Amino acid sequence: MGVRTTRLIAFVVLTLVIAAFVIIFSKRSALAANQADGVYVAYMPIVPVRPEQKTGDLVITHMGLYQSVQNQYNDVTLVARKPALLRVFVNSVNPGGTSHTSSVTVDAYRDGQFVGSIISEPKPVPTLAIAGDIESTFNFNLPDDWLKGKITLIARIDGFDEIGEENENNNALESKFVFRDVPALDLTIVPIIYKDTVTGLTFQAAGHDPISQWLLSAFPISHINVTIHDQVTFTGDLRRGEEWERLLVELTNIWAREIGPESGHIYYGLVPNSNPNGGSWFTGGTSGLGWIGQRVSVGVDFGEGAATAAGHEIGHNFGRRHAPCGNPAGVDPHFPYPDGSIGVYGIDTSEETLLSPKTTHDMMSYCGPEWVSDYTYEGLLVDQSLRGKQSAANITGDGLLVTADLEAGEIVSYVTTVINQPFYDAGKKRSNFEIQLIGQNDVILGTYPAELYRAEELGVVADMLIAYIPMPVAREKISGMQFLNDGVSFTGILSLDKNQD
Ligand SMILES: [Zn+2]
Repeated sequence: MGVRTTRLIAFVVLTLVIAAFVIIFSKRSALAANQADGVYVAYMPIVPVRPEQKTGDLVITHMGLYQSVQNQYNDVTLVARKPALLRVFVNSVNPGGTSHTSSVTVDAYRDGQFVGSIISEPKPVPTLAIAGDIESTFNFNLPDDWLKGKITLIARIDGFDEIGEENENNNALESKFVFRDVPALDLTIVPIIYKDTVTGLTFQAAGHDPISQWLLSAFPISHINVTIHDQVTFTGDLRRGEEWERLLVELTNIWAREIGPESGHIYYGLVPNSNPNGGSWFTGGTSGLGWIGQRVSVGVDFGEGAATAAGHEIGHNFGRRHAPCGNPAGVDPHFPYPDGSIGVYGIDTSEETLLSPKTTHDMMSYCGPEWVSDYTYEGLLVDQSLRGKQSAANITGDGLLVTADLEAGEIVSYVTTVINQPFYDAGKKRSNFEIQLIGQNDVILGTYPAELYRAEELGVVADMLIAYIPMPVAREKISGMQFLNDGVSFTGILSLDKNQD
């Protein structure tokens, strides 16, 4: 085939293609013209198709960012690296019977730089998105790398402008969020072997972790370092409140020796409630006990209920008092909501469940179902921010740790242990109690602060004194010690060497 012939064929083919295109295009125009009642409309392929009919308006009214609990102003502090659910509230205003289906796009920026974008599945836009209906909002689990520092989010409905609206200028909303770094929680679970003196049964410790998942969801923390401790045996009758006190004091002695008093590291004693024969011992009453403001607590392993029981006691360890529902003693007078409500909406992001303030109670109350109020959440956050990193020593060298079980102002037992442990801030006076080191001929060798620990649950009030005595002189020159209350001895001189129970 010659060159001329090839060019001729190419020309003919090109002409046919153009002719075909013109015919098809004119037919499409004719169809479009017919639909628009004779008005000629040429649709270009890349121009968005927007119906002439404008029905109503899609408006983004609000973005709410939930980690455990959130109010309508997004005032609740956000915790870095903790899973977060973004709820975008979009209303379809004056839809005139038309249901608009659309999707929401969220773009993230940090320091003016584009970080990423996420888009929802399309779904019908409600006439009114409300906090109390999780299905009424467009919901997003934010990517991990968005959950730190400062981030600006821009949410947009109908981003491809496919829906004709009366106002196209209210389809986007910008919100800024700040995430705060909170120290990881150190949690040691101590499995208790419970020898029940009433039934004679032994309840074996399970050595598992039924609680940290719930703590991660409800507490203002993003990470928990969990350790399972060696088993500890307790023989007694935990149907009685004072026996819970004895168990808590025993566990506190272990914590003080191993970790050092005042530490931010939690020790939680888990008491089993079932044995292989199907027996259980718990029938009601005290189910746990935890110091208010010191990080040791104990509670029953109820299976599913173990986590919320632990949340309550560990809440005490974080300094929280009771919320007013179920008639607990020692109610926090500043708790802001009646009936121990969580006050604002909560979300458990692990299950994407919405928790209503109408039906959900703060975990520091005695009512269920329980979750965390914004008030408790902020309190927990302050405590963890202060104490979560608190393990550093300011005293080294041998000293004497003295712990004493206090009942009705009298010491019923005490334990002395030589420790060489970090001991936080031992010089700071926090209570009216002190401990005095006595030398030969009743010479006072030194006076040191003693801390008062208190726990309060249904049927039990527990008090304990804990003190650290640095050893300023040789042991043989010391004849004893005594506890003081407001500067007055109330114990007489106690032996230093003898451990008493
Ligand atoms: Zn309590």
